[in-house]
Amino acid sequence: MRIALKAKPLILKVGSAALILGALPGAAIADSARCVEGLWPAAKSAGVTRATFDRAFQGFAPDPEVIEAANFQPEYVKPIGEYIDRAVSDKRVETGKQKLAEYQALVEGLEKRYGVDRHIIVAIWGVESNYGVQPGDKNVIRSLGTLICSGTKAKFARPQLVSALKILQRGDIGFEAMNGSWAGAMGHTQFIPTTYTAYAVDQDGDGKRDIWGNIPDALASTASYLKVSKWRASETWGYEVKLPKGFDPKRVSENTLKPLGDWQKIGIVRVAGEPFPRLSDKASLFAPEGTRGPAFLVLNNFRSILRYNVAKSYALAVGHLADRIKGYGRFVQAWPTDETHLSLEQRTELQRLLIAQGLMTGEPDGVIGPATLEAVRTYQRAKTLPVDGFPSLTILKRLRAETPPPAPPAENQTGSVGEAPPADGGEAPPANADGEQKANAGQE
Ligand code: CA
Repeated sequence: MRIALKAKPLILKVGSAALILGALPGAAIADSARCVEGLWPAAKSAGVTRATFDRAFQGFAPDPEVIEAANFQPEYVKPIGEYIDRAVSDKRVETGKQKLAEYQALVEGLEKRYGVDRHIIVAIWGVESNYGVQPGDKNVIRSLGTLICSGTKAKFARPQLVSALKILQRGDIGFEAMNGSWAGAMGHTQFIPTTYTAYAVDQDGDGKRDIWGNIPDALASTASYLKVSKWRASETWGYEVKLPKGFDPKRVSENTLKPLGDWQKIGIVRVAGEPFPRLSDKASLFAPEGTRGPAFLVLNNFRSILRYNVAKSYALAVGHLADRIKGYGRFVQAWPTDETHLSLEQRTELQRLLIAQGLMTGEPDGVIGPATLEAVRTYQRAKTLPVDGFPSLTILKRLRAETPPPAPPAENQTGSVGEAPPADGGEAPPANADGEQKANAGQE
């Protein structure tokens, strides 16, 4: 997930002092230095040399964007359908198929060795870093140091920093190249340093576990981590199911684990009516939109994916992307669309109309991010409507009524716009973690 950052002054707490970042005053630099020195004892007792420590923190200054990202509270809570549409876009499915073909020998070997479905390995790669396109470009030491020194998620960041220093000391990756998300999730697989230390794999045998630049190492690390997360070979993650009439899934806890046979007895069946392969498999019911959207019985392997990222929407995206790469279709049941849940088409149309009105720029992609929200707010202000930035059906209908249809393109102007950046970039699971995420606490 990439978070677009608003430019505003930032209060950074360093020790007891509060200061404004931007133009770092001398006092702030002194406080940063004091904070960094306070990190040395823990590093030292973990076996980090002073030379490694000094090199890692050379020129350290807190990164205001990291704190901003850590404190980001979206006012618009993205419906799960919107997140799934984005995480499992047709383009990502197609790219996944290409990657599967390109790395066929590798992923077949990993499937044999670790017992993890090759489609799942490729799907995690796709959801985590868009197949390595968006691995995060923030220096991990700087990000973790910033979190600790600002007191933002410091408890999470302290052990991560020690692990990160040890990774540098071991020479798996260079000081300049150890980049990741704002929370230190690194490389193709978005492993945080402690997960990396415990589970990353040197697949190509060059003595380094390079999840940043070496795809065999990265994909093997994913497979290795899923295996220790109790992935079961030759089993799927779950099934889309049909609920019996009058059944309210909200009355069943998502933690209730029962054999598929028991669920079947109360009338829950697969959407296309096929039998469950193993009735004794323990499953829980996951119906994030209640009776208004797709419902699933999820199995052991769904719970393994949750070790990577504890958001269930994330695990669903990974499972669904794997199935789509395998050649299965979309969910049979549609996600709800109503006043507050626009469909992908409606969201794209909304952006197109906002762009036509000059309220935002870019290429409509149906992803509601900060740029779209700001455009909606600007529109609401101009129309003296309540300003909440929420992309509702009412706003879409007003825009439709006001915006003239685009003129038909001239003969010589029919080419794709292509190069324009997407209107928004954000992409995070909507159901945010209650607990700490295991592989990549940053949700980046
Ligand atoms: Ca290697």
